[in-house]
Amino acid sequence: MTPRAMATQQLENADQLIDSVETFIFDCDGVIWKGDKLIEGVPETLDMLRAKGKRLVFVTNNSTKSRKQYGKKFETLGLNVNEEEIFASSFAAAAYLQSINFPKDKKVYVIGEEGILKELELAGFQYLGGPDDGKRQIELKPGFLMEHEHDVGAVVVGFDRYFNYYKIQYGTLCIRENPGCLFIATNRDAVTHLTDAQEWAGGGSMVGALVGSTQREPLVVGKPSTFMMDYLADKFGIQKSQICMVGDRLDTDILFGQNGGCKTLLVLSGVTSISMLESPENKIQPDFYTSKISDFLSPKAA
Ligand code: PLP
Ligand code: CA
Repeated sequence: MTPRAMATQQLENADQLIDSVETFIFDCDGVIWKGDKLIEGVPETLDMLRAKGKRLVFVTNNSTKSRKQYGKKFETLGLNVNEEEIFASSFAAAAYLQSINFPKDKKVYVIGEEGILKELELAGFQYLGGPDDGKRQIELKPGFLMEHEHDVGAVVVGFDRYFNYYKIQYGTLCIRENPGCLFIATNRDAVTHLTDAQEWAGGGSMVGALVGSTQREPLVVGKPSTFMMDYLADKFGIQKSQICMVGDRLDTDILFGQNGGCKTLLVLSGVTSISMLESPENKIQPDFYTSKISDFLSPKAA
C-alpha cells in the first residue's frame, strides 16, 4: 500500500487522540526503552492509559529474544506487561508457520538468535541452525560438497550476531534446491542501535545476503508487513481503525500502522529527528508526531 502523502501535525491534544482509539500498539526500542534503559515517563504513561481502559500491545522487530524473554525485560524495567501483550518478530515467525499449518514433520533452518529458536520450540516445530552454526567452518578442498538435510521446508532469517558463510551457504542450498522451501524474514531493518554511539547493520543485512544468493524475495513477518497487525487484530478482536500505532521509525512502525489502516503517532525519542520527518525525501507522514510518549500526560493545549 502506498503511504499517505498527508502532512503530519504536532500532537497538541493528546486527550483527543487517546479518546479516539481503543488500543495503542507501542513499538519498543526508541519508544519504551533505548537499549536497556527505560525512556523517561513510560511507567506513568502506560498506567494512565490502562486506567482509562485502553488495550496496550507491544510490537518489536528485534527477533533476538522470545516473548517470554521480553516479558522478563519489561519486568526488570519495572513495567507491568503480560507476555500475551508482546509481539516480537521471533514470535511472528512461529505464528506465521502455525497460520499456514507448516508440517510438523518438516524442519526449519534458522539464521538468527535464541528468540526464534525458543518460539519455534514452543510452537512444536523442528528446527536446526541458530547461533551455534556460527562456529562452523567450511573447508574448501577440491571436490568438497556441503551436505544439507532435505526435509527443510522453511528458512527463517533474523538478526544474527553469529552470521557466517556457512549459514549463507546452508540456507541457500535449502532454498535453491527445493523451490517449495519458504524463505521467511523476521524483519528487514537496515540499521539498528546496538549501542547509542553509532548505527549498526540490522537484520536486513542478513536477509540481504540470502536475497543475493537465492535471487528470491522473502516473506516478511515483522513490521511493516501486515501479518502481525492482522494477527493481533484477529486475536484480540480489534478494529484497526480503533488502533493508534506509536513508533520511532518511519519505514517500519509508521508504515506498519498505515498499512493496517490505523492512526499513527511518531515519537522523536528514538531514531527519527524532526529534520528527517520534514525532509522532502521522506514520503511517510504519520498523522501526528510528538517528542515522547509521556507527552500524553501533559495537559491538553487550550
Ligand atoms: N533488530 C535488532 C537486532 C535490534 O537491536 C532492534 C532494536 O534494538 C530492532 C531490530 C528494532 O526494534 P524495535 O522494533 O523495538 O524498534
Ligand atoms: Ca523502534
